[in-house]
This record gives sequence, structure tokens and C-alpha cells, in this order.
Amino acid sequence: MYEAMRVWVSLATATNGSYGSEMKITEVKTFLMSGGGSRNWCFVKVYTDAGIYGVGEGSGWPRVVQTAVEDLANVVVGEDPMDIERLHQTMIVAMMGHGMTGTPGSGAINAIDMALWDIKGKVLETPVWNLLGGRVRKQIRTYAHAHSPERAVELRDRGITGVKTGGVYRTVEIVDSIRQAVGDEMDIMVDAHGPPWFTAKDAIIVGKNLEPYNLLFYEDPVPPENTEALRRVQENVDIPIAAGERHSHIWGVREIIEDELVDVVQPDSGRIGGITQLRKIAALAEAHYINVAPHSGSLGPVAEYAAIHILASIANALILERLEDDVPQRYEVIQPHLPTVDGYITVPEEPGLGVDFDEDVVAANPPNPNVISGPDPQNGHYEPGTYDERVYYQQRYRRGRELRRIRP
Ligand SMILES: [Mg+2]
Repeated sequence: MYEAMRVWVSLATATNGSYGSEMKITEVKTFLMSGGGSRNWCFVKVYTDAGIYGVGEGSGWPRVVQTAVEDLANVVVGEDPMDIERLHQTMIVAMMGHGMTGTPGSGAINAIDMALWDIKGKVLETPVWNLLGGRVRKQIRTYAHAHSPERAVELRDRGITGVKTGGVYRTVEIVDSIRQAVGDEMDIMVDAHGPPWFTAKDAIIVGKNLEPYNLLFYEDPVPPENTEALRRVQENVDIPIAAGERHSHIWGVREIIEDELVDVVQPDSGRIGGITQLRKIAALAEAHYINVAPHSGSLGPVAEYAAIHILASIANALILERLEDDVPQRYEVIQPHLPTVDGYITVPEEPGLGVDFDEDVVAANPPNPNVISGPDPQNGHYEPGTYDERVYYQQRYRRGRELRRIRP
């Protein structure tokens, strides 16, 4: 059969005789589960009157996102799910009255938008990467996290070709030990996590001391809100700079891309605003020779599929962040789990996103508060010696000690 005709016939079959325009969204359901510790994952199913449903995920404070998705459902139920761009703009307009809703707002849009792309792929019987222009690659390179040379060697021996370490405490020392252990074949990345007490000058000092290690990138060297600080780091450190995980929508990353303050942009595929936003950001980045390396971390396993389909279909894909050896529910809740083999994920061929999740596993892992630690109520500060104390409050008092390890 003539190929275009076959597609239209399958579309007509799937939509009970219409060409898509008569198909309607009937319901949006949310599913919130624990991702371990203070992480939660918010999944959605968007149902249609054609018997097809799409799956998505929204991150960016998932307990808040769940409520926002339930509110946004009011503007998409009864609408044609094939009109993705129109519904995306409708959801943005619905958010406007609530002010700058940031990542929770775009996380909610992300969840529904992602499910709409899944529906469109299922209706047209083709993978989402095909809807995005077709496949540039059949495999996606991934990197994992390693904070010791032993862990980096273990990952290398499993075929993984990139590792990232985090924080600013002993970072140069850790990078040096990892580089000595794994040699030059493995890519190493550093995420400073942009703590608010870390000055641009601190970030430059650390960055200059990291230059000899030929990092793939230096991530969030300063907090993302002040782009002038990021500009100073970009101009003074000779390592590709990465940022973007805390932003939402194309407007959140516009300045860092257009002013070329980053070499790598890191949209979070759970809270950037969906596949609709990811593809626009990738195009803007391409115009500036900036690579795309989507963020993961608090993100659940459904949102990862949005990143996989984008990276499969764009020229400027760099690498995908991936948690290896995470909590059991990450691997239990979705079908299929795509393993990392020799450092790569194989891009799925199934219609739509190619993933579904198990509602029983969601029910078996009830959510926790997204923030589970805070200052000591007695003395008003984080407990000395804890992670939170080190990251959020007290580090400045020890600058001399911390930087002495970097610059003796
Ligand atoms: Mg990060």
C-alpha cells in the first residue's frame, strides 16, 4: 500500500473513522510514588475516547506537580490530543494567572505534553523520534556518577565511558584520583551544584585547577540565577561549561544559550516543559554550537524516555545522565527497563515513547515529603557535620580549609 495512505488508514482506524480531529481526551490521572528518600516521581496517564492512552512524567517538586496536573486537566479534557502545540500553548496560558510558576508549573505541563507525544506516536504507529524528524542515531551514550576511583573503575569495567563527580569539597583531589585510576579513555565531569555560598571567584579558582584534567564539562559552577557570575566563569575557565537543569521552558535557558554562557545545556526532561520544549531548546542550542546533555537525578524512569527520543533525533546530542544501580523501584515500575550496554542505551522502536508503568508498583511505594531535613529547631542551623550543613550554611566558615586542598 502507498505509504502515506497506510498511515492515514491506520490513523482513521485508531480514531473510529476520523482523521484525528474527532479524537478527544477523556481523563488525566496522576500517580505519585516514592523514588527513595526525599525523591518522589509523578507519572500521568492521559486517556482518550479512542481507547489509547499516553504516559508522561512531571518533576520539579512532584507533590506540587501532581496537584497542578489535576488542575491543568480541566483545560485539556475534551480536546483533540493530536493538537500538541495548541494544547501546549493553552496550558502555558492557563498557568499565566498564577505568576512565574517555574519548574513545578512546567513540570505539570511536561507530564501532559509528554503523554500527548506518546498518544500521537501510538495513533500513527511510529516512535516519537520519528515524529521529531527521524533518527540521527540508534544508541544514546550515557554517563553515571562516581565519587571515588574504585567506583569509576567498576563502571568503566561495565563499559560505561563517562563519570561525573559532584560538590566542591575535595573535588580536584577526587578528579585527580579518578583520572589516575581510569586513564584518558573515560570522560570525567564535575557538577559543583552551584551552592549559594560559592562565589564566582571560588568557581574560577576550582575551575582553573580542574583544567589539566580535560573534563567533558564543568556543571553549575555558580548558582544559575545570576548570569553575570556565570559569564565571569565562562570567560575565565578553559573547560566547557554546563547548566540548565533548574530552568523551565525555552525562555529559562534563552539567555545562557544566546549569550553562549554555556557549551552544554542540560534541560531536565521531567520539568523543562515536555518534548515540545526540549525540541525547541535543542534547535536554539544548535544555532550556537551548544550541545544537549539532559539532566537526570531526582527524575524518574518515565521522563528519561523523553530525553532518549530527543537525543535520538537531534544533531547536537552529547550524552545522557543516568543513575546506575539506583533504588529497586526504578527498575520495577516501568516496562521495559532499557539497560546500559557497553555505555549506550538502544533507542526503542515501539510506537509512541515505548514505555509504560506498573500501577501496582506505584501503589506499593507511597510518596514521602519532598523535603525531609531542615535546620535544628533548637539552635536554628543545620546539624554540624551533616551534608545539609556543609552544602547550605557553614561552608564559608571553612573556605580556607576547603580551598587549601585545591590551591596549597
Ligand atoms: Mg547537576
